[in-house]
Amino acid sequence: MTLHIPFQNSFAGLPDGMFARQTPTPVAKPGLLAFNHALAEDLGITGTDDPRLAAYFGGNAVPTGADPLAQLYAGHQFGQFNPQLGDGRAILLGEVRGKDGALRDIQLKGAGQTPFSRRGDGRAWLGPVLREYVVSEAMHALGVPTTRALAAVATGEAVYRETALPGAVLTRVAASHLRVGTFQVYLSRQRYDLLEALFAYAKARHYPEVETPAQFLEAVARKQARLVAQWMGLGFIHGVMNTDNCAISGETIDYGPCAFMDTYHPATVYSSIDRMGRYAYDAQMDIIVWNMAQLATSLVPLCGEDSEATINEFTAILHAMQDVVRDEWTRVFCAKIGIADPKGDDVRLVTSLLQIMQDGQADFTNTFRALLEGKARDQFTDPAAFDAWEGGWRKRLEAEADPQGVMARSNPAFIPRNHRIEQMIEAAVQGDYAPFDRLMRVLARPYDAQPDEADLTRPPTQSEVVQATFCG
Ligand code: AMP
Ligand code: MG
Ligand code: MG
Repeated sequence: MTLHIPFQNSFAGLPDGMFARQTPTPVAKPGLLAFNHALAEDLGITGTDDPRLAAYFGGNAVPTGADPLAQLYAGHQFGQFNPQLGDGRAILLGEVRGKDGALRDIQLKGAGQTPFSRRGDGRAWLGPVLREYVVSEAMHALGVPTTRALAAVATGEAVYRETALPGAVLTRVAASHLRVGTFQVYLSRQRYDLLEALFAYAKARHYPEVETPAQFLEAVARKQARLVAQWMGLGFIHGVMNTDNCAISGETIDYGPCAFMDTYHPATVYSSIDRMGRYAYDAQMDIIVWNMAQLATSLVPLCGEDSEATINEFTAILHAMQDVVRDEWTRVFCAKIGIADPKGDDVRLVTSLLQIMQDGQADFTNTFRALLEGKARDQFTDPAAFDAWEGGWRKRLEAEADPQGVMARSNPAFIPRNHRIEQMIEAAVQGDYAPFDRLMRVLARPYDAQPDEADLTRPPTQSEVVQATFCG
């Protein structure tokens, strides 16, 4: 049966100047590596037994109804404003309305050069494509808003990243690819007409209940605060929280040098390009406020007559956001220790546990999971400090209705550990997809014990530790 994607393209209907029409560049030998049938079904995509699936998702054939384009955006990269970024290797095929009623972008990443490629080759190599496939699907299963992975296709071509590597294309599904940087580009170009069009589009697509720029800012900030708190609760480090990687929808987007922490330390950084630790684990809660300040700045030209009053409103929202993030963080971490509805001093129970974990070099995921199983003591090099903490914690839990249930829903047994991702990529490069298949299967149920898979809960040995993660 021929592949059918029920496209309902809306972004392509926006004014000229917001994108460039661009078809994917065909590849030498497209080969389907992975396809997400469950997601395809949710999106009303049919005919997924089409032998030409690899051709469609490798960029060699454009599905009927697609209106392929590359989006324009700008962004602050590590604090420095870059006035023109844009999709340098990604091509939006169009949008699809899922069974849940929400519109979603279907985008090919690594599909060839576009007018926004600058010096880039427009391609991706297999490693980052499989990393994003596994980690984004794991994030979804963990309950975190995220872009999804629909397909991975080998190109049969080499990509040069210091050395020759196998190329691949990822098909990414997102609530949209609108970013803070999508607003910034029209501010910096003083194209307020396009800014207005973008604002109307973003509101209608993501925040239909919102009217004013201030309400919009507040709504985005709330989603982002919740998102970053969820990342924190899983020990996730995004790695490149540039404003162009910060989605208006509130989804996690752009899995580059990201990682889940093994040993807990608040200053953990993995990204090879983050030398100053700007996007370290515990910096993420401040950076998201900084990113929202950039969004606020971009919205100023939309404020009309009473811009002074609106700017005051923006300032108040940004000042309050720090507390919003804190509150979300407190809710997430209290749930991890079994407290459904935090009050009073509860946050101090969390912070003192985290301090003990840091001092005792405890594994982040396993310690919280072991709290649920009553085995947390084993996670510490010096269990005495934990013993002292445990008494107060158990006493507090007496007032909770269902601490076990709350913890079971908040503390996964399985996360995509970095060393496992690296091992999976090494195997895939050799043509062995068993580790990929296994990670996908186990990480689809991260909160289930799955005792036969217990080796995937093990932290890395010294020789397995991944020191740095790279963009692709
Ligand atoms: P990222 O670091 O993935 O957020 O990408 C930053 C910018 O670089 C975006 O505009 C990307 O489209 C662009 N880019 C990244 N890799 C490539 C590539 N291989 N070819 C062309 N553009 C790229
Ligand atoms: Mg990006
Ligand atoms: Mg990237």
